Amino acid sequence: MAARNFQPQLQRFEQICRDAGLKVTHQRLEIYRELLAAHDHPSAEALYKRLEKRLPSLSLDTVYRTLATFEQLELVHRLETVESQARYEALTCRHHHFLCAECGGVFDFMWETFDTMHLPPTLEQIGAAHRTTVIVHGTCAACARAVQDATEQVTEIATQPETSPTR
Ligand SMILES: [Zn+2]
Ligand SMILES: [Zn+2]
Repeated sequence: MAARNFQPQLQRFEQICRDAGLKVTHQRLEIYRELLAAHDHPSAEALYKRLEKRLPSLSLDTVYRTLATFEQLELVHRLETVESQARYEALTCRHHHFLCAECGGVFDFMWETFDTMHLPPTLEQIGAAHRTTVIVHGTCAACARAVQDATEQVTEIATQPETSPTR
């Protein structure tokens, strides 16, 4: 597995931790590094499973607490999905999310037009906005293809002659 170089991000990470008076422990560094390398917005459980071999003393509870700390420092973003488990990602550049209702996949996309839009003035009566993101719910291309393939297979089976030998 090719190790990607996350040197600038890791330097920034260490700086933010230090500024916040948070010790950069090996566990914290590994959790953040794993999240930087991940592209699937893993849940805390999934992240823990990826790290437990490398970090035998790590507990799921520590992963949860570490992620919560990182979230406060705006190093990671917690994404609430329709599933019960929250998903996490290292906060890098601004983007939005597409959630697949079939496989639970979370996909990033950019939307510059949205990013430059002004929020409606009525929002001011509700409160101060910290962050705006778009979540699109749908079926990803791979899942849509799988459904289509399954439908085609059913059609093929249905059109096969009844005398065909059984396996
Ligand atoms: Zn999908
Ligand atoms: Zn994302």
